Amino acid sequence: MKAIVVGGGIVGARVAESLAASGVKVTLLEARYFTYGATGRSTGSVTVQQRKPELVRLALETKERILAFKKKAAEMGIPFAERFMDDDSPHVAIALDEQEYGELKKLASLWREAGAEVEELDPESVKEKYVPELNPSAFYKAFVTPGDYKFMPHPYTWASIAAARMEGAETYTYEEVVKAEVSSEGVRVLTASGKEFKADKLVIAAGAASPRIAALIGDTPGVEVKPMYAAGLVTEPFKYTMRPTIRVLSKAFRFLQTVRKEYVATIDNMGFENPELSTEDSLEFLVRASKLVVRLLPVFAYVNILRSWGAFVDFTADGYPVVGWSTKYPDTVYHIYGFNDYGLSVGPTAAELAAKEILSGTREPLLEKFRPGRRA
Ligand SMILES: Cc1cc2nc3c(=O)[nH]c(=O)nc-3n(C[C@H](O)[C@H](O)[C@H](O)COP(=O)(O)OP(=O)(O)OC[C@H]3O[C@@H](n4cnc5c(N)ncnc54)[C@H](O)[C@@H]3O)c2cc1C
Repeated sequence: MKAIVVGGGIVGARVAESLAASGVKVTLLEARYFTYGATGRSTGSVTVQQRKPELVRLALETKERILAFKKKAAEMGIPFAERFMDDDSPHVAIALDEQEYGELKKLASLWREAGAEVEELDPESVKEKYVPELNPSAFYKAFVTPGDYKFMPHPYTWASIAAARMEGAETYTYEEVVKAEVSSEGVRVLTASGKEFKADKLVIAAGAASPRIAALIGDTPGVEVKPMYAAGLVTEPFKYTMRPTIRVLSKAFRFLQTVRKEYVATIDNMGFENPELSTEDSLEFLVRASKLVVRLLPVFAYVNILRSWGAFVDFTADGYPVVGWSTKYPDTVYHIYGFNDYGLSVGPTAAELAAKEILSGTREPLLEKFRPGRRA
């Protein structure tokens, strides 16, 4: 079997590596450089704090899958395997007021019912047990998922691509797919530089650009997939150590310390009305994120921000990703994108299960809710 995978983010990289490891002749095409998209601009948190039970179940497997691949990559002698900079990271979901508490409590029952461990704590107990620097008068309650995890998605993605290459894949950067055709002979893809690639299968894993690639062959995800503006910032390294990840779900806000000691804050949901990156949006993000950080952790008032950035994530109308065979070209074109703000938490598991479906033609029960062509 020959497969073309479009998109060198965390999802395309894991699909490509999993297929190559099973003997598929893989060509991975990336329009810019690997991790150019949402993957390279994300926070690095792997959490069961999801809004759908199916996503919680996938997220429950992700840490073990990342660790299993880390071991494999180290055995293959891939240097990036040493740099995942991963650590256990209980996620502290904060309810700022009583109303948010009611909403979060419902979500926490969903996490529990799907199999996750969840603790409900008052502000003083969160401070005592998890984050001594938290200001307890700044919030109402919190739910903690102690089994969560954090890592650096860049080296994980690069290691996946390096492993895929060692397993026989051909991988290309700066090859943007601009044309594609599906016929009885298979798939033909053209890139902006004029190169042509042929295969039996096409896997669309291009994040927010995926609906455009599907449109090149007259295909569609079915459910609406829209690019949402998201943004992040990183501070100077700061000696105080914080293992947990802080989240305020009502504000799509995440805050964690990487193992390099710097702090990363992101807001995954800055609105749909910003089709281009802009300075105004970056400034608005900086104000919103800094206010939240300092309100919750006043010690950060004097920590400098080094850089900030913008990105686009692929939001779906019903909150599920799009994963499965195309309705127009079943058995030839496979869709895998629409990972909203949870692609690190859910993507690695979904990608490995997707590779199994592509290889064997079987259906993975955990992916059933995500099929292309469904109605939101
Ligand atoms: C600020 C921010 C913070 C986040 N934090 C978290 C987090 O902590 N935890 C979590 O679980 N999720 C988080 N996410 C979401 C997560 O980053 C994404 O869901 C995930 O990275 C999606 O991966 P992907 O491989 O599907 O897409 P992407 O990483 O976007 O990769 C798609 C790739 O396709 C390429 N491409 C596009 N068009 C073409 C073309 N025509 N030809 C070839 N290649 C093409 C792009 O260049 C890109 O590299 C965050 C996202 C953002 C933006």
